[in-house]
This record gives sequence, C-alpha cells and structure tokens, in this order.
Amino acid sequence: MKICRFDDDRIGLVREGAIHDVTEALSALPEQRYPYPVGDALISNLAELAPRMEELADKAPPIDPATVSLRSPVANPTKLVCAPVNYLKHFDEGAGDPEIHFNRHVAKIHEVALFLKANSALAGAGDGVQLRHLDRRSDHEIELALVIGKAADRVSREDALDHVAGYMIGLDMTVRGPESRSFRKSIDSYAVLGPWMVTADEIDDPAQLGMELTVNGEGRQKANTRDLVVPIPELIEWASSFYTLHPGDVIFTGTPEGVGPVVPGDTINATIDAIGTMSVAVSAA
Ligand code: MN
Repeated sequence: MKICRFDDDRIGLVREGAIHDVTEALSALPEQRYPYPVGDALISNLAELAPRMEELADKAPPIDPATVSLRSPVANPTKLVCAPVNYLKHFDEGAGDPEIHFNRHVAKIHEVALFLKANSALAGAGDGVQLRHLDRRSDHEIELALVIGKAADRVSREDALDHVAGYMIGLDMTVRGPESRSFRKSIDSYAVLGPWMVTADEIDDPAQLGMELTVNGEGRQKANTRDLVVPIPELIEWASSFYTLHPGDVIFTGTPEGVGPVVPGDTINATIDAIGTMSVAVSAA
C-alpha cells in the first residue's frame, strides 16, 4: 500500500497515481485517553486497519494528487533519528587503499553517531520548506527514510527489517553553522517526508533504490542505496541498542554527496525508485 495524509488530516491510499480517501478507517482506531500511548496510532494499528482501508479505497473516487496538499505521512513519531553522511564520495582510484578509505568513513560515522531532529520540524511535500536565518546557507539532503512499524528494542541486524512498516523520501534540511546538528536541523519544516509511505511489502530490496534530487531542474544529488556505508539493518540495530524505536519513529538513513544550498523561490524535486517523486517549494519563513 501507498498511504498518504493530505489536506486537513485526510488519509488516502495511492493507486496508479490517484488518491482514494480512506479516512473513515480511522474510526476503527482504539479509543485513546490521556496520557496517550507512545507512538503513532495509525502505524501501530496498520495491520488491523489495512483490510478496511483497501475496501474503502475500492469505493472512493480517485483524486488527483496535484489538487491536494500532502502532509507528512507519519503524524506522531516519538523521534526522528538521523544518520550522518552515509555514502562514500566517488573514490579516486589513485588515492590509496579503498578498504582503508571505507573503514575511515565507518569510523567517522560511529564517531558522529546517530542524532535526532525535533518532531516539530516535520513537514509534508505540500507544506514546503520555510527557510530561517537567510543570512546563512540552508542545504538540501535527500535520504531514504523508513518508518518503524513495531517496537524495536535491542534488535539484531538479522531481525531489523521485520520492524519496518514502510519507506518514504526524506529531506533532511540543514542550516549551516557551528551549532550541534540537532539544533541546526530542527527548524520548523526542515524534516520533509513524503510524498507517501510505501509499505515494506512493496519494496523488494530497500538496498537497491536509486535516488535523485534536483533544484529548479538542475541535478544536485544522485545515488543508490546499495552504496549506503552503514546499511539499514545495522542502523536499526545501532539505534535500538540505545533506545526503543516505537511505531511511527522515522530513521533518515543519511545523504549522499551533492548537498547544496537552496533559497526562497526554489523548487526541490526528489525521487526515489519504488516510492515516487515529490516536489517541494522553498520559501522564507
Ligand atoms: Mn542528513
């Protein structure tokens, strides 16, 4: 399934490029009382709701995605986990031993470690990115983003993918500067997810996905997840060795080379194989 959230918290299934409104399925969610259970209710209950969502989609008229505003497919994660740059730059064959080069990069990733973006930075493709601190450079980072489907506490890399609900395109936007990553990457709208979540059963191999990002049609980033330095199962193992990943939690798997600046008026187009394309407008906050 491809699940989207659009306009005023409508839920849709995307079939052959059209959205089918299945919001009514949310009425089957268990009643919640304060303090609310940890995690995203839709993702936590997805297996139970899926048959009803499919039924509703069969009957719902198709909606052109261009006529709606897409929100972040996940509404209530407990955290947004991010890997630092997780692809090797094109390696110059004359520059030394590729294995030493690779191991240095792995060591650097482990030194930087995983970090968090604030949940309040979440945005969808239709929300756009609102830049702050216009005197400083804000950069785009395209990343494969995954959503945790069932709680993961100290899981092994072998079991890790069983805990994934689905995949999305992620834009880990960053303002450059000396402050810690979590501060600079947590500006409102600097965590764009979309255009929808593709459930894990529809992605044959998340480690074989091409991706591309353009700004105003100009190519900036192009990569394939086969070149991830720390692969997805190891990211989940590593993250969950420190904290429990709850349903709805998002992992941004790290960006390839080619990050670059955006300014108000720009349009970012981001594509990942088997997921789709999202177009994100950049403005000033
Ligand atoms: Mn990043």
